[in-house]
Amino acid sequence: MTSQTPSDCLFCKIVAGEIPSDRVAESDRSIAFRDINPAAPIHVLVVPRRHEPTVGALAAASGDDLADVFRLAARVAEEEGVADAHRMIVNTGSDAGQTIFHAHVHLLAGATFTERGMV
Ligand code: AMP
Ligand code: ZN
Repeated sequence: MTSQTPSDCLFCKIVAGEIPSDRVAESDRSIAFRDINPAAPIHVLVVPRRHEPTVGALAAASGDDLADVFRLAARVAEEEGVADAHRMIVNTGSDAGQTIFHAHVHLLAGATFTERGMV
């Protein structure tokens, strides 16, 4: 199965450098950039270069790409000094808050998270 890069996908354009982003890290397979509308003092999006609409589709298409997204997220957490206190969140489907249908992981940190505050 080949991945598609829809011409109207915002994150494909950010991956390609056609739309600017505040990029904080990258690897061969993934990039990481700051969320334009941060929900916490540290809010970074980690995005595979390959276009797949959801993390589940990414897992099915390429375990290597899926692993790399989380590897890069962990590296960013380390570099931001929050390796011991962060959340990684994946929204899947518009009813769960997904607005960009290019797989991505939210890395959130710098706020006080509690077990009860998950949703
Ligand atoms: P989700 O709602 O899980 O699909 O996450 C999409 C995220 O992308 C939201 O947190 C938005 O604030 C963020 N976002 C949208 N446009 C941009 C952009 N141009 N640069 C950085 N982040 C963006
Ligand atoms: Zn895309």
